[in-house]
Amino acid sequence: MARGPLIAGNWKMNGLAASAAKLDKIVAGAAKLPADVDVMVCPPFLLIADFAARARGSRVGIGGQDCHAEPSGAHTGDVAAEMLADARAVAVIVGHSERRHDHHETDPQVRAKAAAAQRAGLLAIVCVGETRADRDAGKAKDVVGAQLAGSLPDDPKNIVVAYEPVWAIGTGLTPTAADVRDMHGFIRERLVSRYGLRHGRTEDGIRILYGGSVKPANAKELLTIANVDGALIGGASLDPDEFLAIASVYG
Ligand code: PEP
Repeated sequence: MARGPLIAGNWKMNGLAASAAKLDKIVAGAAKLPADVDVMVCPPFLLIADFAARARGSRVGIGGQDCHAEPSGAHTGDVAAEMLADARAVAVIVGHSERRHDHHETDPQVRAKAAAAQRAGLLAIVCVGETRADRDAGKAKDVVGAQLAGSLPDDPKNIVVAYEPVWAIGTGLTPTAADVRDMHGFIRERLVSRYGLRHGRTEDGIRILYGGSVKPANAKELLTIANVDGALIGGASLDPDEFLAIASVYG
């Protein structure tokens, strides 16, 4: 059976206990979406257990924004994928460009985190994307291709790829529809050649999300492009009305 789209919100370092009211609004709105649309909210670590309890039995899954590759150990300040699963998260974002930039995360580290997510039974949302300089130099596909080769785990189960051009994140800028179509087609080809048709195809579960300044005003154009199977949303996910308006493209 074909998998439906995924609309995931990355709250980044935003949200306090009182933000549960926003989650409640998203849960209520998500109930009205078509049954095949998956909705996810990825709040800061400290909110995960409470959010997962509040969203229990609803259409909204809760995810983390990062995890450590090891299941436990002497890693001060880190959180294991198993801990996320224990808090009832169902997914984790790995390799977000802010992690790659701020924490110097490399492709092999992202790959190990994705494998850790799988080990813990979580969906791994693996982020890739080129910088403006890469795109201007005509190297966008080289960079994304190398990130895919280095960051994706061996096992194709429970993976989502998020294509997020770094220059589009939080800037209000987006690639043209033609550029998104081109890059998502390229990523799909890479998934098929890496994992075989059975796993590379959307129907078998590897969805390719677009991320980078998705707003209600541009959601329809971006989310109806071939091989765009949903969105990873930063800024607009902090406003439940905007987030749900984006998801309602599939309504
Ligand atoms: C993100 O950081 O994953 C993101 C897509 O952010 P924004 O929607 O704010 O561009």
